Amino acid sequence: MAALDYVALAQPGLRSLRAYDPGLDLVALRRGFAGGVLVELGSNENSHGPSPAARAAILDCLHSLHRYPDPSGGDLKRALAACHGVDPASIILGNGSHELLMLMGQVFAGPGRGVVSSQYGFAVYALSALAAGAPWTPAAARPVDDPMPRGHDLGAIRAAVGADTALVFLANPNNPTGTWFSTAELADFLASLPANVLVVVDEAYLEYVTDPALTSAIPLLARFPNLAVTRTFSKGYGLAGLRVGCLLADPGLVAVLERVRESFNVNLPGLAACEAALADRVHLDWVRRQNAIEREALADALAARGLAVSPSQTNFLLVDFGRDAAPVEAGLVARGVVPRPMAGYGLPTCLRLTVGLRDENRRLLQALDEVLG
Ligand SMILES: *Cc1c(COP(=O)(O)O)cnc(C)c1O
Repeated sequence: MAALDYVALAQPGLRSLRAYDPGLDLVALRRGFAGGVLVELGSNENSHGPSPAARAAILDCLHSLHRYPDPSGGDLKRALAACHGVDPASIILGNGSHELLMLMGQVFAGPGRGVVSSQYGFAVYALSALAAGAPWTPAAARPVDDPMPRGHDLGAIRAAVGADTALVFLANPNNPTGTWFSTAELADFLASLPANVLVVVDEAYLEYVTDPALTSAIPLLARFPNLAVTRTFSKGYGLAGLRVGCLLADPGLVAVLERVRESFNVNLPGLAACEAALADRVHLDWVRRQNAIEREALADALAARGLAVSPSQTNFLLVDFGRDAAPVEAGLVARGVVPRPMAGYGLPTCLRLTVGLRDENRRLLQALDEVLG
């Protein structure tokens, strides 16, 4: 039987597409470390875990797992709307914000309707474009010796926007660089764009931000009908395993996204846990404070070892070893510490390290000292 060329059968945009690279195989690594404790610093998860109220909410809903969840996620949307000072109709929920980023591409991009994002922006933006068959234009990032190394250059992104640009993706702060731009810079950027170019500001790490110059773009929604903002429960809220995110935009934009949203895309425990997590501001503030303390301590410790550490308003640090980082990565993994390789981002000399608990960071530094000898 002759094999079919499935790639040739796929829509043309998929031909140059590679599947999202989730990093090292954690399931295999955990199996290999059975008995020992693996320090998992590869996926920017929240080492502190979620609010205890989220766990309690999940236990509470176990008796109704045979029922479909609320297809519109009304309670969670109303809680989010109250939290962010918007109308519930301006919110759509997703199976993680990843789903919503893909949905934005599916709905608004396509052949002749291009997508622009920064060179070292989050990998999902290019995926969203190519999956929709849209041309993707990466805008050059800031130089390595910039105060925001490899960060978004809003001027270059603006210059990359052309007559056939439909959609711009920005991450603020950005993954994998950890860099950010101020709310004032974002407002200027939005004002400089043609009114029909949609802009997604991905605020996956906003809960970790401590720089007062960077606040959420959500209040800008009232001024810019072409703006959409995504948030997630995967990072600051510590619920990555449940897969819940949201997008906030004009109710008209949300209504168009709703046309293609999969029904019941957010599961029952996810809806319940996120509503409870949102209500626990004490836990979130504690996470933010702990992360800020550990982020600074870890950045200082790495810098003291002569390593180039990018500034970060997130729960991770991008570290440049100035040489191929693959042997460093292998050495860390051999010692039970899991970083995120960056070769897929075109940064083979870098590793991305999640800021862990104090003890995890200590183990990271100890392993690094052994590896760097
Ligand atoms: C982690 C991350 C997300 C969140 O993805 P979810 O699908 O919500 O888990 C989105 N954007 C960026 C930049 C991220 O790093």
